[in-house]
Amino acid sequence: MNVLVINAGSSSLKYQLYDMTNETVLAKGRVERIGMESSILTHEVEGEPDVREVSEILEHTAAVRKVLDMLTHPKFGVLRAIGDIQAVGHRVVHGGESFHESVLIDADVKAEIRRLFDLAPLHNPAHMMGILAVEANLPDVPQAVVFDTAFHQTMPPASYLYAIPTVLYRKHKIRRYGFHGTSHDYVSKQAAAFLGKAPEALKIVSCHIGNGASCAAILHGKSYDTSMGMTPLEGLMMGTRSGDLDPAIVPFAMNKEELTLSEVNSMLNKHSGLLAISGLSSDMREVVQAMEEGSEPAKLAFEMYAYRIRKYIGAYAAAMNGIDVLLFTAGVGENSVPLRKRVCEGLTFLGLELDDARNEVRSGETRRVSADGSQVDVLVVPTNEELLIARDTYRLAIGPKGKR
Ligand code: AMP
Repeated sequence: MNVLVINAGSSSLKYQLYDMTNETVLAKGRVERIGMESSILTHEVEGEPDVREVSEILEHTAAVRKVLDMLTHPKFGVLRAIGDIQAVGHRVVHGGESFHESVLIDADVKAEIRRLFDLAPLHNPAHMMGILAVEANLPDVPQAVVFDTAFHQTMPPASYLYAIPTVLYRKHKIRRYGFHGTSHDYVSKQAAAFLGKAPEALKIVSCHIGNGASCAAILHGKSYDTSMGMTPLEGLMMGTRSGDLDPAIVPFAMNKEELTLSEVNSMLNKHSGLLAISGLSSDMREVVQAMEEGSEPAKLAFEMYAYRIRKYIGAYAAAMNGIDVLLFTAGVGENSVPLRKRVCEGLTFLGLELDDARNEVRSGETRRVSADGSQVDVLVVPTNEELLIARDTYRLAIGPKGKR
């Protein structure tokens, strides 16, 4: 019962092979620099030295073939034959309004993902290359797609519509979609299980704080609102993305600095956020270190970053008329002790009390970091988007309700 999880980018392809009988990762790795000189395949198996292979991999079909060769390699492989892969699951960033849940791939699903290229021009075409590459190599193996947007399709119109002429929504589907849905879904269920409660009984604010970052208001198990919008640029301040800003800044800055559309797009997505304010790095570790060494710009960047998160938590507590659980996940959320502390310092009005000693504990497990008397449970929940993709794929393709 092996499921291969694929995350295809335009010049990269990440993979994880799961044995679903016990949900263990048999092997994982990535192909980088597809279509460039000296492509690199890195292959990892627990307890074995990593394998690194440099070769010419011109497109995604060849990349998938390389991965399959590696998985069945007599020395480095973990499978006897390619036939031991029973299903493949793909991460797809944008499912638009068409996909409310994960689905098995067929001709209609592929056509719909193609129709959505417009909404995620950097991501969906690359995911489609991954899907076609797997199809070419494993024509008889069922494939499923798991969308970053699907979990947020339960948002009500008051959350997802922008206050602009509705013709733009009707004609072009301009609305909030939200992202990191696979992660918010997974960690909110993990949090409920940790607390021994049903997700339907809880009001959760989930903070996925990684290189990209978003908050979600999860009311009774369903996404009610989220900070990312039509694209992953809106909302929190991120590593290199600006997050929320007055839209009038765009034409104003374009005019004053004589910027083109593509330049302003690149400025807001790649040269803003922590990187711009700290003047140093998009990596929270480096920003915190510089702050501790006395850098004023790093301190300001850290303050702005934490302040935005706190504002969203307050907004979502108001949106849901309360909050039972605040959870932190992803690279920064799981690992940054000072960030969690700074965010929670301003939330005592909610009856939320962090326990400093618990907050300092480092662990890869779900854990409580709030004090015993806190009215809000504050949890750190490690995210695992690949596992959720593997589970959905298994359920759709193989499990009791699956097709085979
Ligand atoms: P992700 O997008 O979830 O993989 O998160 C990546 C980000 O997590 C990196 O850019 C770092 O800024 C951040 N990160 C990873 N480890 C730590 C740490 N120990 N402390 C603070 N930030 C961290």
